[in-house]
Amino acid sequence: MPPVIPFTDLSRLHSPLGSRILRAWSRLLRNAAFVHGPAVSRFEERFAQVCGVPHAVAVHSGTAALRLTLMALGIRPGDEVITVPNSFFATAEAVTLSGARLVFCDVHDKSYTLDPQKLSACITSRTVGVIPVHLYGQSADMDPIRRLARRHGLFVLEDACQAHGAEYKGRPCGSLGNAAAFSFYPSKNLGACGEGGCVNTADAALAGKIRALRDHGQRLRHNHLFIGDNARLDTLQAEALTIKLSFLESWTRRRIRAAQWYAEYLHQFRVPVTPPMAAEYARHVFHLYVVQSARRDALRRYLESHGIQTGVHYPVPIHLTPAYRHLQLPAGSFPIAEGLSRRVLSLPLFPHITRAQVKCVVRTMINYLC
Ligand SMILES: *Cc1c(COP(=O)(O)O)cnc(C)c1O
Repeated sequence: MPPVIPFTDLSRLHSPLGSRILRAWSRLLRNAAFVHGPAVSRFEERFAQVCGVPHAVAVHSGTAALRLTLMALGIRPGDEVITVPNSFFATAEAVTLSGARLVFCDVHDKSYTLDPQKLSACITSRTVGVIPVHLYGQSADMDPIRRLARRHGLFVLEDACQAHGAEYKGRPCGSLGNAAAFSFYPSKNLGACGEGGCVNTADAALAGKIRALRDHGQRLRHNHLFIGDNARLDTLQAEALTIKLSFLESWTRRRIRAAQWYAEYLHQFRVPVTPPMAAEYARHVFHLYVVQSARRDALRRYLESHGIQTGVHYPVPIHLTPAYRHLQLPAGSFPIAEGLSRRVLSLPLFPHITRAQVKCVVRTMINYLC
């Protein structure tokens, strides 16, 4: 039996665009230009425009976007880079793979994003940069982060992998730091039909270097200037992304509307969960609609048994994963992030979710909690 309410619904999203995507793909099959070419540049131009930045460099994934940017910034062994423990694993992974020392900073207990109040205590003479994560679709509080970064000469790399179309004080996420990494993983607010990612920046030299790094460090063929990687965006994905990009704003508005329905019903029925905070500085684009409940795991099982799919983002803070055991950061090191990992629950939310479906999710929660 299929779930009554899925966590997300990509087939519904694609049904009106499928024929356009397939037409673009059959053209590609005929001309066999599968790697780069004008389709990739076209997507880069449009995405840069939407994000209000001069340069967008399309790459293979959000992880590649983070990795190549850190490579291009010229991290040296011993350098320290600060990020948060409550992100997708890739944020920390990219720092470690760059050769930098990973330093975690705990998050704000309401916004769940990097807490500027805790940031200065994490900065040492070896710190070179900070990666705030715009978690669940809401911008980190960038002004105080940027002020601290400027004072200490640090780069700011936005992890905007969950923040397509999000804003901070009216400015697009992805235009607020030295560079920003986006992911087009299928379930992201703008998703490819496979893998994809992008680096946005206003820094022409940085963009040029990342452009070379994604293609084995070459600018011209067989002229390898740097040691890079193969991290190019598939042309098939660029075609699909260009078509999907024109729907991003309408999908974003639908996500925000669905989040308003949740807020309304959770309030109206006095459901004992903590709803997401919409910070006054942010346009929250609700990549995820995340509530907190002390009975999260049991609530999740109950919803599942009633055909409602949910998610947990993220059940284990990165410093407590087996992969980072060597950092020897014991439980209790980052109390806000750790508390969130025990209580957060992501409810079904996708552009075409209906008001009735949202109401059904909330009613089912009440049946269990009240
Ligand atoms: C999805 C995601 C990534 C990684 O993106 P991929 O395209 O899957 O490599 C990195 N950071 C955050 C916050 C993400 O949500």
